[in-house]
Amino acid sequence: MAIAEDLEIAAFLKGQPKKLFIGGRWVEAASGKTFETLNPATGEVLAKVAEGGADDIDRAVAAARASFDRGTWRDLPPSERAKVLWQVGDMIEERATEFAQLETLDNGMPINDALLFHAPLAAATFRYYAGWVTKLDGATQQISLPGNYLSYTLREPIGVVGQIIPWNFPLLMAAWKIAPALACGNSVVLKPSEETPLSALLLAELLQEAELPAGVLNVVPGRGETAGARLAAHPDVDKIAFTGSTEVGKLIAKASAESNLKRVSLELGGKSPNIVFADADLTKAVSGVFFGIFFNQGQVCSAGSRLFVQEKVYDQALDQLVQTVKEARIGPGIDPVTQMGPLVSKTQMERVLGYIRTGSQEGARLLAGGHRPGGLDSGYFVEPTVFADVDGKMRIAREEIFGPVVAAIPFSDEDDLVAKANSTIYGLVAGVWTENVSRAHRVAHALKAGTVYVNCYHIVDAVTPWGGYKQSGWGRELGPYALDLYTELKNVIVDIS
Ligand code: NAD
Repeated sequence: MAIAEDLEIAAFLKGQPKKLFIGGRWVEAASGKTFETLNPATGEVLAKVAEGGADDIDRAVAAARASFDRGTWRDLPPSERAKVLWQVGDMIEERATEFAQLETLDNGMPINDALLFHAPLAAATFRYYAGWVTKLDGATQQISLPGNYLSYTLREPIGVVGQIIPWNFPLLMAAWKIAPALACGNSVVLKPSEETPLSALLLAELLQEAELPAGVLNVVPGRGETAGARLAAHPDVDKIAFTGSTEVGKLIAKASAESNLKRVSLELGGKSPNIVFADADLTKAVSGVFFGIFFNQGQVCSAGSRLFVQEKVYDQALDQLVQTVKEARIGPGIDPVTQMGPLVSKTQMERVLGYIRTGSQEGARLLAGGHRPGGLDSGYFVEPTVFADVDGKMRIAREEIFGPVVAAIPFSDEDDLVAKANSTIYGLVAGVWTENVSRAHRVAHALKAGTVYVNCYHIVDAVTPWGGYKQSGWGRELGPYALDLYTELKNVIVDIS
């Protein structure tokens, strides 16, 4: 395990194997098993982590239940709970370099992305929801029936919340899940991805330091089919919040239906259109197209993986994109000059290379990339890849690749574009590049997507709703919208005649 001594995160990584966080204590897995998490830039073992299984999930759910029933968190004065969450935001900011190094080593992402985007946004999410703790108000209703009634609503925590997150943005996904759930007074069991469990464990350390009462947050790294499946099916979990693939999202919904009809929210996959009209500022649009697909090596649910370009500027836009791709700096994420790091794992790299082969076999024209870059053989790198002349029926235009591969499709006019862009099972985001303000709004209204970016891409803030149409999910995270995901609405009606 080669961990550079001068990294700020070295001390955390030395304390191994990392344990599960259950009931306010750091514990071994009941089975005694551990698993290895790798540095995808080198293929070396980064850390050993206790492997939570069904028994550990049961322990964690029992701890969460006990803390919830005792009211150790939900019954604290709201301003006290707000203080804890605000403090965690501050602590993430203070330790941003450690978090950034950990994300880069575990996931592969460029260190500057981790430092400038992931850590600050995670801190901002805790602060944003700290603000909501004192504002979870109800409303009063005017009743028209004969008599005299006082009717009002209360927002109450749901209870024990299970949360399952993916590997692409480990810290950020943990923050998006934990902060609103705790703000609403719930107790939580979080299962991070087996590929990237480390930043959630460091976050649990911070919440422990901030004196969150024991049992209110439990973090159990483990595999999806064991720990994840148990959490989704657990009869004493009141709500499950899942971010991951559409395929597993369906299993989560099924497990909920077959156990206790626990509340379910789902943030799933995407195949988002990024659309360049002939009247766009082409230089800006091409740089937005590059960022839209290649940020985080394309491992983004909202990646602009289907590139629609109006015929008039199709060749020009693709020429410029290929030029930008050729200049991309690929390397280990820990090197500050790196623009694109490795994919998260060997499996993911092979999956993406498989899709690239499929694209060529289906007859798409490979304009750039398509291979593992030379000189980086020990890591899981894939070149940024551009396919042109893609047909909407091809698999590379329909299926989520979750890697640095963009499929370019020409279109003639707005009607042609809207039909093609909406022709997908997904509906997470869309990007529109045009200088015509009427067209921008018209197309934004016609696209079936949870977010439409106009002349920008991947802009996400703690205040903006996040979620998808169609098979991209159920519900909206972030902003005040997440409060609906983590509260039950109670109506109290009193006869006051
Ligand atoms: P995944 O669905 O394979 O795994 C996600 C999580 O689910 C992991 O923690 C995994 O251990 C767990 N899991 C796997 N099988 C399970 C099962 N049978 N029961 C319960 N849990 C199980 O997804 P991934 O490969 O980690 O992440 C990539 C996917 O996540 C992509 O499809 C991407 O679009 C999606 N994603 C969506 C959003 C969003 O906000 N919509 C954000 C990030 C990622």
